[in-house]
Amino acid sequence: MTEKYVLKCPDCGRIIPDRYTNNCPAGCTGLIRAYYQKRHLQIQSYLGIFRYSEWLPVESHLPSDAGPVTYKSEALARELGLSNLYIGFSGYWPERGAHIESCSFKELEALPTTVRMREKGHGILQISSAGNTGRAFCQVSALSGAPVVVVVPESSAERLWTTAPTEHVCLITVEGDYTDSINFGNAVCHLPGVVAEGGARNVARRDGMGTVMLDGAVTAGRLPDVYFQAVGSGTGGIAAWEAAMRLIGDGRFGTTLPRLQLSQNEPFVPMTHAWQDGRRDIIPERDMPDARHAVSQVYADVLTNREPPYSVKGGVYDALFATNGTMDAITNAAAREAEKIFVDTEEIDLDPAASVCVASLIRAVEAGTVGKDDCVLLNITGGGYRRVREDKQQFPVEPLFRVKTGETMDAIRGDLEAWVNTHLRRIHA
Ligand SMILES: *Cc1c(COP(=O)(O)O)cnc(C)c1O
Ligand SMILES: [Zn+2]
Repeated sequence: MTEKYVLKCPDCGRIIPDRYTNNCPAGCTGLIRAYYQKRHLQIQSYLGIFRYSEWLPVESHLPSDAGPVTYKSEALARELGLSNLYIGFSGYWPERGAHIESCSFKELEALPTTVRMREKGHGILQISSAGNTGRAFCQVSALSGAPVVVVVPESSAERLWTTAPTEHVCLITVEGDYTDSINFGNAVCHLPGVVAEGGARNVARRDGMGTVMLDGAVTAGRLPDVYFQAVGSGTGGIAAWEAAMRLIGDGRFGTTLPRLQLSQNEPFVPMTHAWQDGRRDIIPERDMPDARHAVSQVYADVLTNREPPYSVKGGVYDALFATNGTMDAITNAAAREAEKIFVDTEEIDLDPAASVCVASLIRAVEAGTVGKDDCVLLNITGGGYRRVREDKQQFPVEPLFRVKTGETMDAIRGDLEAWVNTHLRRIHA
């Protein structure tokens, strides 16, 4: 193969040319994976995530210093009695070299995805997200000038801010809940030139998130024995497994896959429930009874995906199975307690999801499933919200369209089409 990478379907084995392709053209359901020509990872001389661009499905890069950061913990490690605890920190913490100004590892997804769309899709990305993903794409739009259409429930619009003004974000707020805004977002994707970002099916999303594992292994000089992450969709877990397989292929980082120790926040724990029951399928009545109520009760609401890519080929179940992994359920009280320990020891504020992950590490240490000298990679998926406010101005992203309950696309079609066409002309000029 001469291209930098090829896409391959895990179900039928077909090699697929990348036209921002997120689904096998033969209609298979498995997660398409990128295979890179370079087996030996060479780190490029960029500051942020694009130093790992050999293993990202992009040909070029963006000038961003946002990227994965790993350091060896002292204070938390001492508190827990661990001798090899590495912290992957995805957020804002300039003293540690962490410059993700939208404060979560979703920006590691948004950066390569924006480049992939520019190079292979030539369209306008559409994202439906009530939180970190939407903010990350707005931030990258502010940096790159790439147009995006973001659809959110009206009630969560205030979570969307950037640290630079955005001129090319079309924010649509929808009265109703998250499901209403997902449905509206799907309708928006029927406009010519508007392309759904793709979620877990998007190789740029997974390989972007996978750079946390790459950076962890490069920093520690080896693959970790265990990888901890809190999951909602589990995409980050799949990404960590895929990145670890590439590192084994490289040959310099060891031959054993890290165990994935993934966690969810009680009472909404569908994957934990299914995995602990030994099932490949999530049965909604058993694994997420009264989902709406359960979702409203969790501390970390970014962990409440109702349709995670758990059963599909190459999904979360396969990642857990291949790595001898585990799934844990963490209470709000345990997450808050763990957060306090982390803030006192490492001295940076956390996203609630990261607190869930710290709680699962503490539990594993207490239960003895993690040994004192095991090499541990703790993925702190978000943090530094308080820290970024000290340094940066925050610009709220203002809605261009506000959709009322019961209104369909037709209510805004004309004006939205005009916006889309203007931006298509601009990016193709
Ligand atoms: C999205 C998110 C997660 C969960 O990530 P997935 O791997 O997609 O389940 C965890 N932490 C934070 C801060 C997030 O934004
Ligand atoms: Zn296929």
